[in-house]
Amino acid sequence: MAGKTIFKRIIDREIPATIIYEDDLCLAFKDVNPQAPTHVLVIPKKEIPSLADSTEADEAVLGRLLSVARKVAVDLGLTNGYRTVINCGRDGGQSVDHLHVHLLGGRALAWPPG
Ligand code: AMP
Repeated sequence: MAGKTIFKRIIDREIPATIIYEDDLCLAFKDVNPQAPTHVLVIPKKEIPSLADSTEADEAVLGRLLSVARKVAVDLGLTNGYRTVINCGRDGGQSVDHLHVHLLGGRALAWPPG
């Protein structure tokens, strides 16, 4: 169907992804172009284009995204720490218009980002 984002197509199982977690609100899968030894994306099943498009009505799902990121970090053994990132909009470097949390770990990460 035209207009679906690539992440919606992953939710609908129209294209493959390495899915590592799923619940009623969220899905987590490996980033296809990893920027760290562990690079997972946690996304809402609801089609929210970006953090800027979310509303107070989305507080439960926004909280779940971080809770899932924490669980996945534990499951993947990121005991030295990790980073969660939400790119938002053009200046934020967002390239897929479906809200997602990046979970990066497995190496020391530089700060600040570019
Ligand atoms: P952002 O630039 O914050 O919008 O992040 C989008 C991320 O989605 C990038 O890290 C891409 O590597 C990742 N990505 C794009 N297509 C896929 C896909 N089919 N499966 C997994 N990750 C993807």
